[in-house]
Amino acid sequence: MPIFSPRPFQSAYLPVEQDRAWLVRVFTALERSAKGLLFGCRMCGNCILQETAFVCPMTCAKGLRNGFCGEATEERCVVDASRPCTWLQIFQRAERMGRMEKLLEVNAPVNGAQAGHSAWLPFARFWAERKQPQLADLALRPQRFWQEWEGLCFEFRQPSWWQADGRYHSPAYQEPVSRLEAALRSQPFIVTTEIEPPLGSSPEEVVEKSRLLGPHVVSINFADNAFAASRMSSLACCKLCVESGGEAVLQIQGRDRSRNGILSDAIGAAALGIRNILCLGGDYHNKSPQVYPAQPSQFDLDSVQMLWMLRRLRDEGKLVDGREVEERPRYFLGAAGAPFTLKPEYNALRLEKKINAGAQFIQTQMVFDIPRFESWLEACEKRSLLDKAALLVGVYPLRDAEDAHIMANEPGVAIPAEILRRMDAAFEKDNQLAAGSSAADHQRMESHAIARELVQKLKELPGVRGVHLMAGGQEEVVPGLLE
Ligand code: SF4
Repeated sequence: MPIFSPRPFQSAYLPVEQDRAWLVRVFTALERSAKGLLFGCRMCGNCILQETAFVCPMTCAKGLRNGFCGEATEERCVVDASRPCTWLQIFQRAERMGRMEKLLEVNAPVNGAQAGHSAWLPFARFWAERKQPQLADLALRPQRFWQEWEGLCFEFRQPSWWQADGRYHSPAYQEPVSRLEAALRSQPFIVTTEIEPPLGSSPEEVVEKSRLLGPHVVSINFADNAFAASRMSSLACCKLCVESGGEAVLQIQGRDRSRNGILSDAIGAAALGIRNILCLGGDYHNKSPQVYPAQPSQFDLDSVQMLWMLRRLRDEGKLVDGREVEERPRYFLGAAGAPFTLKPEYNALRLEKKINAGAQFIQTQMVFDIPRFESWLEACEKRSLLDKAALLVGVYPLRDAEDAHIMANEPGVAIPAEILRRMDAAFEKDNQLAAGSSAADHQRMESHAIARELVQKLKELPGVRGVHLMAGGQEEVVPGLLE
């Protein structure tokens, strides 16, 4: 068990190519043992311990390098319940050390060519080349020494192909690039929704549902293998939706793709006229235990890195490997918000990082608990986030009382007892109904009443620009709900 970090979830990287010099191999082995014992080091070769309060982020089960996932809890890691959440420990220690703002910096993804190799040796060489700070200054001019040290470390951990920071970067264009962006600029409150991609390859289902929902909402999301279970690709669904006159939102999650896969899908989507991309981390493969055999998860990029990479491609025409693209893709970028994950201050900082990296709209997890949601809004307001990105709040029409209780146990979801009581009462009423009648009517009516009340309350909250009706798999309820 490492001293300063949780137990690593995966083993340490081994170098693809062995270091030729035996002395380097010996030094690397020493580094691996020392940092393994202290920090659970996985030898990623891109050390950011200094940025993560000396807790190694690579001990995170998803290998996230820029903050906790949407399902982190105070009690345990969502992937492996036998261990604490690494990122919760990072935030707690950074808070104790007074270094929370350092967590805003967008950390680069692992450079596979460096994984398994020493991180100390290239840094020592880099320092030797830069000749600053001078060691003597540590004693003579300590303030100057630490300033130059910060600069040196920043330059080293932000390589030429990444060059990120902790600042906000506004989009490098004026005119809205999509109907969703235009609606958010021109309307005070909008409604969006989603269609669950079909399990089979029939385009009709997507086209019919897009035509059904199109007139009632501004845009339609298509999930990207939600719950780690494969369905028709979000890209194909978006294309069918656009062809039938709808405004589509492509979801891209990091679990199933490498950075190359993400880039090519984004470029392809823009070529197909898909103008909105929602960047997500993705559920871990054990999210759907019924989906077997489980695939090893990719998680090459987290959602912050995806936003940074796609924003630079759109605004600077640069791919992550430095190549320039002729025709820059045009898309409106979004990210997920999880208002009930960990404490609001940590959460708002995590959200600020997504917005700084490039998120222009935020689609939250389902919201039922308005008072808790308001404290999260306050934390976001304190960081002036809501004038930089448009907030769409998730509203989920509960299917029935059983569904309500299942959702209430989901990490990142908070359902007040009063709502559970109302659904249970509706369930009792349905049960008393004579056999053969259309059961669950009271539950459906109660659930829709709850959803409408939530939309009304959310509409009155400052900073809320709309709601996202999470009606995937029950799309037919949307028109009735909105009437
Ligand atoms: S809960 Fe999420 S962020 Fe925390 S260690 Fe597990 S996978 Fe990583």
